[in-house]
Amino acid sequence: KAKSSGKNQYELYHHEMHKNESKIMQMEVLLRKAIENDEFFLVYHPQVDMKSKQIVGVEALVRWKQKELGIVSPGEFIPLAEETGLIIPISEWVIKKACEDILNIHLKGYSNMYVSINISALHFNHDSFFRSIEAIFDQVNVDPRAVEFELTESMIMPNASETIGKLVKLKKLGIKLSIDDFGTGYSSLSYLNRFPLDTLKIDKSFIGKLGIYQDDSSIVEAIISIAHRLNLKIVAEGVENKKQMDFLSRENCDRIQGFYITKPIPYPELLNFLENWDEDLLN
Ligand code: C2E
Ligand code: MG
Ligand code: MG
Ligand code: MG
Repeated sequence: KAKSSGKNQYELYHHEMHKNESKIMQMEVLLRKAIENDEFFLVYHPQVDMKSKQIVGVEALVRWKQKELGIVSPGEFIPLAEETGLIIPISEWVIKKACEDILNIHLKGYSNMYVSINISALHFNHDSFFRSIEAIFDQVNVDPRAVEFELTESMIMPNASETIGKLVKLKKLGIKLSIDDFGTGYSSLSYLNRFPLDTLKIDKSFIGKLGIYQDDSSIVEAIISIAHRLNLKIVAEGVENKKQMDFLSRENCDRIQGFYITKPIPYPELLNFLENWDEDLLN
């Protein structure tokens, strides 16, 4: 009995695996076309400064709008895009578009706002990376100081000494550098003061557990204090309620980002959002 049910399990698994494989292959075909058909768009997630209670910046997040699949989230297609190399043109498009949009936001009068852009590991480590960044800043007349790149620990740690050189070049252009999902990756702190960083983003998994597990609150407190000792700004991601915000505010977290403020929104809605922003909404 056990044996036959084991076999069924296997067949079921095998069947599922094939279904998944063909689903992935189908998605790859669609992803190739997506670039030509201009099917990507960006949504923006505001970041609020805890002292001034103003929106000081936004994180750009990519979405793929596909006729049959609907709106596909980056968690689903970025890994595939990295495996197939399609990430390079996608990433270049994202960076350029985010720079154009923040320039337009400046021209609307929000002249101090910045945009934070997620950089793909594969793009960052590709020979063309720095050239493509320079080309974008040649084409888009945005102040690079209003642009921040989000990197992850796992993409910069393996070749730390090579990475430092690349980061210094980006800093020379004026770009700010941030570590995304801090606390979940490589658990070495020694790089923090060797790399020319500006910001740490505490991973949302820690924020989600604030007030539930004492240990997580202690970790968040510790991360904030390390960041400040090293003169880094700290952003908390995944803030979903007032309790989390108040805790972070008490702990002197510099900025928060999360669904408590708003879900990520497309550019036209962002302009509305900025216009209607009222710090009293936080009380
Ligand atoms: P990330 O950079 O850590 O982005 C934060 C993710 O957390 C976003 O998901 C955002 O919508 C979500 N988030 C923020 N606040 C909250 C909250 O309060 N509650 C909940 N439940 N979620 C929250 P998203 O847009 O699905 O992006 C997922 C990941 O995909 C990003 O994680 C980033 O690693 C990657 N990604 C997104 N856009 C791009 C892009 O343009 N280029 C590259 N290379 N990667 C991207
Ligand atoms: Mg990010
Ligand atoms: Mg990330
Ligand atoms: Mg993150």
